[in-house]
Amino acid sequence: MMYAPGIDQELIDKVVAFHGHWCASVSSGIRVALWVRENMGSAEDGLLAISEGETCAVDAIQVLLGCTLGKGNLLCRDVGKTAFIFVRRSDGKKVRIVEKVRDDETTRRMAVIKKELTAQNLSEWIRTKLEIEMVRLRRKEMDHILSAPFEDLFRMSEPEGELPQPVRRLPVLVCPACGEEVLMARAVDMDGRRLCADCARRA
Ligand SMILES: [Zn+2]
Ligand SMILES: [Zn+2]
Repeated sequence: MMYAPGIDQELIDKVVAFHGHWCASVSSGIRVALWVRENMGSAEDGLLAISEGETCAVDAIQVLLGCTLGKGNLLCRDVGKTAFIFVRRSDGKKVRIVEKVRDDETTRRMAVIKKELTAQNLSEWIRTKLEIEMVRLRRKEMDHILSAPFEDLFRMSEPEGELPQPVRRLPVLVCPACGEEVLMARAVDMDGRRLCADCARRA
């Protein structure tokens, strides 16, 4: 298998070790991460990643770019898409990368099999046959994602609208209702009291 430049088994293994399995989505994440590393740098260069979904792909971003939830340079604005916005804070360079809809022989056949597998009274023999074909197609799809030209798989554009900002980790306050510490930036005003979001919802 000839993968796209920069991708080899060692790199795939590193991501899979973190993510837990090899799948199409994490393969997409690998492609995105490598493109960004090449064109914009990584966490060390002040990169902020905003994911538009809680997808497997995000794990590749964390491993290969070093942007993580804990460091505050990975934010999730979950609208259920395999799409990312990257911002390099030193010079404001930014890009949105979204996965293109894949509509080829492989994905169409996969959709048919998925539907067939939900049928009642499917014989064990047919089920097994379909499942084996599915494994082969999934593998084919992952190989495609890891080898096709980047522009065939992803669309890039200028991010629109206001971008979510990392919140400052300080200062904190103690919520008067539950007695737990909460980031000031995440506290909510309720009748003149500053409550944590959970308590504000219950009030
Ligand atoms: Zn996965
Ligand atoms: Zn509270």
